[in-house]
Amino acid sequence: MGGRHDGLTTPVRIALLPIGRELLTGRVQDTNSRFLAARFFEMGLRVVRVCAVDDDPAAIGREMRRCRADGATVIVCTGGLGPTPDDLTLRAVAEVVGRPLVEAPEALAHVERRYRELHEAGRLKVPGLTEDRRKMALLPRGTRVLSNHVGTAPGAEIPWGRVRVFCLPGVPAEMEPMAEEHLFPALAGGGGVVVRRLTRTFAVCDESSLAGVIRRLQPDHPGVLMKPEPKGYGAQREMRVHLECEGEAGDVEARLGRAAQALEAALADLGWR
Ligand code: ATP
Ligand code: MG
Repeated sequence: MGGRHDGLTTPVRIALLPIGRELLTGRVQDTNSRFLAARFFEMGLRVVRVCAVDDDPAAIGREMRRCRADGATVIVCTGGLGPTPDDLTLRAVAEVVGRPLVEAPEALAHVERRYRELHEAGRLKVPGLTEDRRKMALLPRGTRVLSNHVGTAPGAEIPWGRVRVFCLPGVPAEMEPMAEEHLFPALAGGGGVVVRRLTRTFAVCDESSLAGVIRRLQPDHPGVLMKPEPKGYGAQREMRVHLECEGEAGDVEARLGRAAQALEAALADLGWR
């Protein structure tokens, strides 16, 4: 969450670290990051990095340190919380943040309850705790335990200095409701700064002809990203331009409105609407 230092607002800077070898070999598409990035954008929060990481504690640690050095205030890891030996995320996080991995009673109760519930629902043969199931209750000391009502592994929020580290399961059907329940509410309100988008559509056939217009307008609208998105082909072709900006709520809408007007006027001058 953002905080105030010396009267200045510290904006939320989110890094997404989807974890798992399957993402690096193309066996599984990383849809978790797309979901999280889109929802964070809706909340006006800025994602500054998305980086898929191998099931390797050293790689996870390296990437977390890089995110922090680049100014991330929130790191969201997905994947690697389960009972199997490839699930290493919390071990890696404990090492990086310098907290011992300990069995958290609240997490252990969570795991036990979830296996009992899944057994009672006829979805699992064996209830009760085993060594492999207990592994999911091993969390860095000082972790906030995040309940998982779909799967078995609880999530975790771990403080790391001024950075908040969130670990959620990799399975989208588990990760998404947990993000809604735990992650988004924890970051709502942000740091007093929001990201917004305004989209305009024009009948421009040639993307390259937009380049000069954007180049000319850009200096008058600092901080407003003008991002074209070509749509359709031939006679049906149209061009969307997404204007994106970060700033104080209210002010940011005014800046986007001015940029959109300037873009419309410049394109109208060229005969495009
Ligand atoms: P579980 O406790 O269910 O094992 P987990 O946190 O251990 O959860 P993983 O083992 O990392 O999750 O991943 C389980 C599956 O979830 C993967 O095989 C893949 O199908 C899916 N998955 C993992 N990460 C992603 C992702 N970033 N995007 C989409 N699907 C993913
Ligand atoms: Mg797993």
